[in-house]
Amino acid sequence: MSELLTRMFFGGFVRLHILYHATKEDIFGVEMMEELARHGYEVGPGTLYPMLQKLEEAGYLTSHAEVVGGKTRKYYRATREGAAALEATRAKLRELVKEVLEDRPPRPSIESNRRKGSS
Ligand SMILES: [Zn+2]
Repeated sequence: MSELLTRMFFGGFVRLHILYHATKEDIFGVEMMEELARHGYEVGPGTLYPMLQKLEEAGYLTSHAEVVGGKTRKYYRATREGAAALEATRAKLRELVKEVLEDRPPRPSIESNRRKGSS
């Protein structure tokens, strides 16, 4: 997967994906990497862990550590703010899917705004 594509667009998809799963259950890094790989995103620990950390710093995730098989594992879960952020992106996502995948721009479209000269 192109690094440029990842940086430009997929980063947001991946963060949303993480947030979505974290609203459903506790997630942890390795499991999330496998889940993302299943969706075709090759996200390594050098990308994922800073992402998780930033989402936590933003208040969207909260974490706790557990010892599993002698190793400390950090679990993440979405906060109330995280769930609200996910909800807020849903409407945007729906509109984006409509426009980009179904080629149905919402009215008024950018084109018609331009014609009216009221950008
Ligand atoms: Zn998934």
